[in-house]
Amino acid sequence: MHRETRAARLTAPAPGQPVTVPLYQTSNFRFESPQELTRAMSDPDSFAYSGYGNPTNRALEQAMADLEQGEKALVTASGSSALSTVLQTILRHGDHIIAQKALYGGTVAMFNHLADRWGIEVTYVDGVDPAEVSTALRPSTKLLFLETIANPIGHVPDLPALAAEAKQNGLLTAVDSTFATPLLCRPIEHGADIVIHSATKYLGGHHDVVGGVAVFADEALYRQAWKHAINLGVVADPFAAWLIIRGLKTLPLRVNRACESAAMLAERMAAHPAVSAVHYPGLPTHASHARATKLLSGYGAIIATEVADAQQFMGNLELIMNASSLGGTETTVMHPGTTSHRHLTADELRTAGVSQNMVRIAVGVEHPDDLWADIEQALSPARTSRA
Ligand SMILES: *Cc1c(COP(=O)(O)O)cnc(C)c1O
Repeated sequence: MHRETRAARLTAPAPGQPVTVPLYQTSNFRFESPQELTRAMSDPDSFAYSGYGNPTNRALEQAMADLEQGEKALVTASGSSALSTVLQTILRHGDHIIAQKALYGGTVAMFNHLADRWGIEVTYVDGVDPAEVSTALRPSTKLLFLETIANPIGHVPDLPALAAEAKQNGLLTAVDSTFATPLLCRPIEHGADIVIHSATKYLGGHHDVVGGVAVFADEALYRQAWKHAINLGVVADPFAAWLIIRGLKTLPLRVNRACESAAMLAERMAAHPAVSAVHYPGLPTHASHARATKLLSGYGAIIATEVADAQQFMGNLELIMNASSLGGTETTVMHPGTTSHRHLTADELRTAGVSQNMVRIAVGVEHPDDLWADIEQALSPARTSRA
């Protein structure tokens, strides 16, 4: 069945059963005997305590493993906790990571923390040539880390070539695919071992829940990650999982609409005299355009645009909201230089491709003409009324 159908129908209920996934709002499960409880507590397929797993979470995990073509998935309390669970599962003191340069600011901050506290070093590469992986390789290298569509500049790495090179050298490949969603790309089909999502964004899709997912191509790695997630205390609350399930059902509708609108807005902004640059992988002028066309079935809904006075443009917006998160029904804008990427040094900002003139527009599902009208009035310095 098509991905759209699989997302819309997470379960196949028998007659008399609920059509949608019930919310198991319980922390605890009862057992027949102490022996059975002991067994359940070390089995990720059983439910003993919701801090370990829960049937509502499991429904979302199975749906995400299915949509991403993975073996197993783990739902966590946030995208960041999915990331830290994966890193703790794979890395030990003194290990080395090869990562793409353009990355979510929180990931860079996490890498810096690992370097500082655990002696884990990172070599940053462009992500366009597999030779970069072999050049950066050390005996201690364990992990290649990529983003399908990088936050915020829309850089798309050559995932298949890089993952193949990583595999050949015994590394695991983890991909943060938050911006692509399983609709635009399935990294496991291209050789990735782990796919990470901030479910806070498109999977939840309504700006009402924080959550994360890690999908594993290999069951043994998932079992290790499950233990680390328990140690970290980051297994998702079932109500959060339930909200994400509700969002997942309309993921294809929302993402397709947002991608179409983003393409239109990116084109119009690129032609506007007050805009000095537009970074959107759907534009032929974007450095990743050819790779994106090959790898993705859509270019995403994030546009990084550069204007003379970013703060003024953002302040002028009326319909579009200044807000930190993205991927929901409402279009939001943010200034990466002073928000998501604020922990980065000037050098790291340059590496991530983030300038102080840059505004990140995360396109939602409103009518694109209304979004364009707002952007146009906010760009015009005269602020003349269009009435
Ligand atoms: C938001 C985001 C994260 C972090 O997710 P949270 O749910 O906010 O913890 C990680 N990666 C990317 C690409 C993101 O956009």
